[in-house]
Amino acid sequence: QDPIKILGVPIHAMTMQEAVKTLEERMLAKEQTFVVTANAEIIMMCQENAEYKKIICEDAELVLPDGAGAVWAGRHLGYKVPERVAGFDLYNELLDLSAHKGYEAYFFGGSPGVAEAAKAKAEELYPGVQVVGCHNGYFKDEDVPQIIADINASGADMLFVALGAPKQEKWLVAHRAELNAKILMGIGGSFDVLAG
Ligand code: UDP
Repeated sequence: QDPIKILGVPIHAMTMQEAVKTLEERMLAKEQTFVVTANAEIIMMCQENAEYKKIICEDAELVLPDGAGAVWAGRHLGYKVPERVAGFDLYNELLDLSAHKGYEAYFFGGSPGVAEAAKAKAEELYPGVQVVGCHNGYFKDEDVPQIIADINASGADMLFVALGAPKQEKWLVAHRAELNAKILMGIGGSFDVLAG
């Protein structure tokens, strides 16, 4: 299915269920997917920042309509947009998938302790979820090789990165070739939200 275009940003207008299925199939086929849930803030950032626009338009394999604004804009342009696929919701769906299928997740980002608190909450909400590693999001450039080694040593299939937009997307694109995880996703403040 071809993506629709909202202000020049290609969006895959699919349901949450289709998005999860697409990600799982690509993961099982050992294809790495950088997935972006494009909310109005991200779509606007693409208008102002050419480097960020290139990341969203050319590097991301899957760009989903996050938020009423993206869904409304797509429909206003005459496209069929079945529903909103919000980043926090997709993150939770993938944790639920981990709980059912044993896929392994790594939580990278947030203030010290927040990823661990999100892991504890995920284990409560999704019994059996496999969160195999955590690292906070306040690091120096020279720490990056060690962080990548830790992510890869964990064996994680899914990497959730919470550094805020656009930092998390830039980080993922810069390092995706060194990462073994098959699902790469920036999730903004989702660890904070889940941790409460
Ligand atoms: N963050 C981080 N490292 C940084 C900057 C931010 O780990 O250098 C974390 C911050 O602690 C928070 C998240 O990134 O958990 C950003 O959340 P925010 O809601 O601002 O992101 P948005 O959803 O707006 O992209």
